[in-house]
Amino acid sequence: MASLQLLGVTKVFANRETTGSVGGVQAVQQVDWEVGDGELLVLFGPSGSGKTTLLRMIAGLEQPSAGRVLMDGVDVTHSSPRERNVALVFQTGSLYGHLTVAQNLAFGLERQNGGWLSGWTGKSSCGSESALSSEQIAERVRDVAERVGIAPWLQRRPAELSGGQQQRVALARALIRRPKLLLLDEPLASLDGPIRLALARELKQQLREQGLTAIHVTHDLTEALTLADRVAVLIDGQLRQLASPREVYDRPADRQVAELFSPRGLNAWVGHLSVNERGWQFAADDGSLQAARLELVAELAITKEASRRVVMALRPEDCDIASASATQIERADCTLEVVPAAGSQVVAEWLGSDCFGSLLLEPRSAGRLVFRWNEALLGAIQPESRLRVLGRRVLWFE
Ligand code: ATP
Repeated sequence: MASLQLLGVTKVFANRETTGSVGGVQAVQQVDWEVGDGELLVLFGPSGSGKTTLLRMIAGLEQPSAGRVLMDGVDVTHSSPRERNVALVFQTGSLYGHLTVAQNLAFGLERQNGGWLSGWTGKSSCGSESALSSEQIAERVRDVAERVGIAPWLQRRPAELSGGQQQRVALARALIRRPKLLLLDEPLASLDGPIRLALARELKQQLREQGLTAIHVTHDLTEALTLADRVAVLIDGQLRQLASPREVYDRPADRQVAELFSPRGLNAWVGHLSVNERGWQFAADDGSLQAARLELVAELAITKEASRRVVMALRPEDCDIASASATQIERADCTLEVVPAAGSQVVAEWLGSDCFGSLLLEPRSAGRLVFRWNEALLGAIQPESRLRVLGRRVLWFE
């Protein structure tokens, strides 16, 4: 177990196009964080946001352009991967096809003194000596195989295992070395939905039981939410938010974070917010939305500013809809009025079964909204209705 601190960690790659000019690819920018002993941190972000680069700097496979990496308070920025006692599990392909599962597991231990990286990259270990006797190694192999649930397959070769089973073996091979820190780079990405989630849950349990500190990279939101004690959201190489999954969902730091945490889409409007002692009013620039609420918006810490430009956003799962004439609005939490511009048509589309009874509003162009709703709501809405939407959770961004 170990704590991990990053201080201003930055990586700039000079590439052919930019060499000679100022800068280069800013893969990771000024990342600061502290991961506690035994914590499972999920590093989450879109493709190309710098996740792998950051993980490689933590492992010691890549040198930061600036900043420091501390493990248990000790500066390891310039230490080799072996000195850090960190184990990495990749997406696929890290097992040796000509060895049995038992031999794959033992291999990691036999190479321990010769450098763990050799076990992952296939490079020679240059005559390393085993630190453990063969009996001790066999004992450890049995022990980890039991814990990770791969004991029945110890004599099989990787080709005789499914993708999920192979990933379990890869995990066991990382765990058998008893690393201080476990780094997982999309280890479940090659697996299908249900197996992937089942393995994610199991992985979490394994890490909990062993009290291991781990950093798990993914761009899959469900996986991130299933696994994380805390989520670090990386966008364009910047750490935008580091908090519990619940907190990031409820209070995303900015619009891009909110979009990443909105699997069914995010309805967003740019407009003016005006505030007085009684509450607030919002008017979208394109005239497609007017909203009001009789409570101050604490999140924005607005005092008595007359008017300011903001982005207001609503997730589909936080909306309900009713035609103003037909249905009473019972949840007084928030009421929005959506008024299609004069002469425009309200277009209805089926969203499909995964919309959880929610409404998706898509402002496609100024003054026009496209409504989508599910079967339960069909009939409540007339094309010419003035529509009211209940927003249970309204998000604001400056
Ligand atoms: P993915 O989810 O697709 O794996 P990622 O979030 O892991 O993406 P990185 O692989 O860390 O992203 O890449 C971050 C940025 O750094 C990208 O723009 C990438 O093109 C660039 N990059 C990564 N490695 C190098 C390199 N060796 N040389 C130049 N640019 C690089």
